[in-house]
Amino acid sequence: MTTQLPIVVIGGGTAGCTVVSTLAAMTTRPIVLIEPGPSSVHDDEAAFFTVLSDEELSREVQVTLVDGGSDQPYVQANVLGGGSAINGLLLTGDEPSFLSGLTRMATEADCGQMATALLAENGRFSRMWWNGGRWNPGRAVQHLVDEGRVTVIAESLTYLEHAQRVITVAHTTNEAIEGSLFVMCAGALATPALLLLSSLERAVSGIGDGLQNHPTITFTLPLKKTISQRFDATVVRESRSTSDAKLLTIAYERTNANDETSGLLSISLMDPESRGGVWRSNTAMQNDFNMLATMRDRLAMREAVRELISTATSASFSAIAEQVLVDSDGTSVEVLDGMKNAELDEWISEHLSVVSHAASSCHEIVDSDGKVRGVGNLYVADSSILQSVPPCSPAGPVVIEAARIARTIGETLK
Ligand SMILES: Cc1cc2nc3c(=O)[nH]c(=O)nc-3n(C[C@H](O)[C@H](O)[C@H](O)COP(=O)(O)OP(=O)(O)OC[C@H]3O[C@@H](n4cnc5c(N)ncnc54)[C@H](O)[C@@H]3O)c2cc1C
Repeated sequence: MTTQLPIVVIGGGTAGCTVVSTLAAMTTRPIVLIEPGPSSVHDDEAAFFTVLSDEELSREVQVTLVDGGSDQPYVQANVLGGGSAINGLLLTGDEPSFLSGLTRMATEADCGQMATALLAENGRFSRMWWNGGRWNPGRAVQHLVDEGRVTVIAESLTYLEHAQRVITVAHTTNEAIEGSLFVMCAGALATPALLLLSSLERAVSGIGDGLQNHPTITFTLPLKKTISQRFDATVVRESRSTSDAKLLTIAYERTNANDETSGLLSISLMDPESRGGVWRSNTAMQNDFNMLATMRDRLAMREAVRELISTATSASFSAIAEQVLVDSDGTSVEVLDGMKNAELDEWISEHLSVVSHAASSCHEIVDSDGKVRGVGNLYVADSSILQSVPPCSPAGPVVIEAARIARTIGETLK
């Protein structure tokens, strides 16, 4: 009797866990998941910043946001379930239809003082990745592991071995896993990095090209009263710039797990044009978002910041906040009032905040089914294959695409 080589999924995050669960229901082939992170024990915890403060579940990589900008830390999941095990619980786009009932709309009872103030400034309740508990696709995979249906290798992939445009072995520090088919799901920064470290750029051109993220500016609002809140963010506001660019304002009840004395108000450009890349320099992997590289994005972000100033200084927020601070030095918002356009543009590019919504760094190397062009048995199914960063909170489109690609792969195995 010959042993069947497994399907190897690399990265057990939002996409990877969706792929593993979908494939496990469609085929009897063995499945191996390579995921270095632990299982989360926080799926009943509603407060996003509290979950995020568990340092075991994430790690930081260095990124640059604008051309020539300094390195900044970017939070990346390192946990079974990936970003969905630690995310801000906001689902601002469509709910994946197959998850119906596992998410719910926020209500007034969920809102703290920051959310209530944004609601009064034309905000709306957000749908949340929560319905009596966090939607974490790692839980379903954990059941499959407990049943012996899926094997997890709790290590990081270091590279893929290949011969004649076919992937043969996935290497971690201590293991070499032979497979029949390989699905990359390590996220929009790690997936292109791993393909480049596997020296696949000779076979596949465009790895890492087109990386995107949401340019974001965040103000801090020291609060008159401290009120503990179950959820950290429940209300958002969608708006448009004069050029019809999509903007999203989010109100947060705290600045982090340990500080309830201030709230945060952020605005993001949700449909940027600018694109950067993940590439390999002599010394290390570079992650450059190259935000605000086009005039349209700069103009939209300028309008966004003016909108944020107006919101943060509105009657609703003035009623709850002592002041509005625009940087980590505690500079008051008035500093932005007198700025001319060019000065404000420069200020914006120096003060962008990092959000963990990286996408699109591998969209050029796959066909519509996620198969890497020119390599026999390699697929990519994570946020890196999206055509652009989604114009909504990204986990929804990531789940929908991952499930679609997994079903396509499953069909080919029947
Ligand atoms: C702090 C935070 C807050 C967020 N808030 C929201 C929100 O409110 N709403 C929303 O919709 N989206 C949110 N997101 C974004 C969303 O979670 C991501 O878009 C989504 O998780 C991306 O899915 P992915 O599968 O591509 O990557 P991930 O979910 O990041 O999964 C990648 C997985 O690959 C693993 N991995 C990395 N390197 C290796 C390697 N070498 N070998 C093997 N495995 C590896 C990681 O451990 C991880 O589990 C947030 C993300 C973060 C980090």
